Amino acid sequence: MEECIFCKIIEGKLPCWKVYEDKSHIAFLDLYPAVKGHVLVIPKKHYAHFSQIHHKEIGNFIEAVQKVAMGVKKAMKADGINVFLNEGKAAGQIVFHAHFHIIPRYENDGINFSVGRDSYLDGEMLMMQRKLTDSI
Ligand code: 5GP
Ligand code: ZN
Repeated sequence: MEECIFCKIIEGKLPCWKVYEDKSHIAFLDLYPAVKGHVLVIPKKHYAHFSQIHHKEIGNFIEAVQKVAMGVKKAMKADGINVFLNEGKAAGQIVFHAHFHIIPRYENDGINFSVGRDSYLDGEMLMMQRKLTDSI
């Protein structure tokens, strides 16, 4: 936790370009934006992973994410917005303080976050549906 750069930002020990703050969250510019206007929204309380966020706090977090996303879209005159979160190293998480990415998108901006698609064999979708339903 001592090494968490986002906690340091919250504590004011590291600078950031803050664009939104409420009692429990802040949003600031990503230092290495995928697109200009790329913003990160984080809870002030340290949770390394999205999956750890307390169920009583998650609703407010998502509300803050929606508010920031709509504000970014408007301010950046974007045609669309990507809202995503990387959970775990395998998913691309490099900062282990849960955060949503808000990325303004434009028609024909040439960015492609989708990396090819897989497909299911016969019967696999039913198996998958059962497996997921049982676990959720
Ligand atoms: P992740 O890959 O963990 O989902 O995203 C971490 C994000 O934090 C990256 O998009 C990266 O550019 C951004 N980032 C890393 N270090 C800093 C920093 O010190 N300040 C800010 N504002 N963003 C950072
Ligand atoms: Zn932290």
